[in-house]
Amino acid sequence: MDSADIVIVGSGHGGAQAAIALRQAGHDAPILMLSRDRTPPYERPPLSKEYLAGEKPLERILIRPEAFWAERAIAIRLGTNVTEVDWLAHELVTGDGARIGYRKLIWAGGGDARRLSCPGSDCEGLHTVRHRRDVDALRAELDAGARRAVVVGGGYIGLEAAAVLRKFGCEVTLLEMQPRLLSRVAGETLSAFFLEEHRRQGVDMRLDTGVERIEHDGRRVTGVTTSNGETILADIVIVGIGIVAGVGPLIAAGAAGTNGVDVDEFCRTSLDDVYAVGDCAAHANAFAGGAVIRLESVQNAHDMAACVARGIMGDPQPYHATPWFWSNQYELRLQTVGLSLDHDAEIIRGSPEERSFSVVYLREGKVIALDCVNRTRDYAQGRKLVEAQAVIDPDLLAESETNLKDML
Ligand code: ADP
Repeated sequence: MDSADIVIVGSGHGGAQAAIALRQAGHDAPILMLSRDRTPPYERPPLSKEYLAGEKPLERILIRPEAFWAERAIAIRLGTNVTEVDWLAHELVTGDGARIGYRKLIWAGGGDARRLSCPGSDCEGLHTVRHRRDVDALRAELDAGARRAVVVGGGYIGLEAAAVLRKFGCEVTLLEMQPRLLSRVAGETLSAFFLEEHRRQGVDMRLDTGVERIEHDGRRVTGVTTSNGETILADIVIVGIGIVAGVGPLIAAGAAGTNGVDVDEFCRTSLDDVYAVGDCAAHANAFAGGAVIRLESVQNAHDMAACVARGIMGDPQPYHATPWFWSNQYELRLQTVGLSLDHDAEIIRGSPEERSFSVVYLREGKVIALDCVNRTRDYAQGRKLVEAQAVIDPDLLAESETNLKDML
């Protein structure tokens, strides 16, 4: 039977960074990374941006050059599906029935794109944007001449994909079932701003609109019938409606978790010697007022991986990292720090009309997050306010000429 001191399941940001952090911390026993993916560890954010747009090839989105892993004695087994965790025996079972032993297991399983489940949703021409292979398939259809696109979902994935498709000259209709865009992650000012921006760029934006069924010719998609009964013709459909956390084998083994797998402040699951990091790890987050959440971001994956590496190396520190995030759409660069969940006030600095502004989110008078559009200085300086949960006069916050760092 194969075994390694550390087995990492998943080769995304969390898995890759866990291996890197362990080696940086001086860990020198065997590390084995298993992944269903068939590509060495690559960055995910560019998939819906520069990689989809054809502006960055695969080599430029690899987390490390391919040779790095072998140089650090990090074994990577791609195309490998872990189907079972036998935590009592400290063994995994893979899709081909092989067993692999571990001393410590780091689960960085991420998730798969959620799919539509309406009539017609299994026909050809529907795409998600989560793995490199998803985007390659979408690119191939665009290269083959697909021109009319329907995007389902007005979260960051859907919006970023819509922006790239417009760049390619596609006719784009975007459907969002909620009354506003980005309702899960941002406040109303930002929702309204991005709605206006995408309309200006020629996207046909439909709010309060879901999918009733996918129309097809027996094989391929031909259109989307919306919840309002209208049929929109389409050559391709891009579905950006969130992810389903990839934790099946852990939960089957008895790990606690309802949405993802639960971890404590050291990223430990309820199973002995099993850690979890990244998109799939549900944790009590201080920046969300202690609420148990999953965070789908590079920052969270990296910082959780670092937390696990410290724990394994005997220097445990609780996970307490400031959340940050970014999105690029058209010429807009959005940078977010903190979590705006449960905010009760939004203060605007600068000018949405001039496409350079920040939204400062408050909860009970305290600064909890900022969304900064083309305003990197606010983002950099606002971080301190978020970390301090600063209480600042809203009128002062709105003075866009006054630096945020001078307000603390
Ligand atoms: P992602 O990270 O994929 O962008 P989010 O959860 O942030 O995921 O955003 C997904 C968006 O898709 C949400 O705004 C949600 O309301 C919307 N949505 C989910 N299901 C549907 C659907 N069937 N039709 C239209 N919009 C949907």
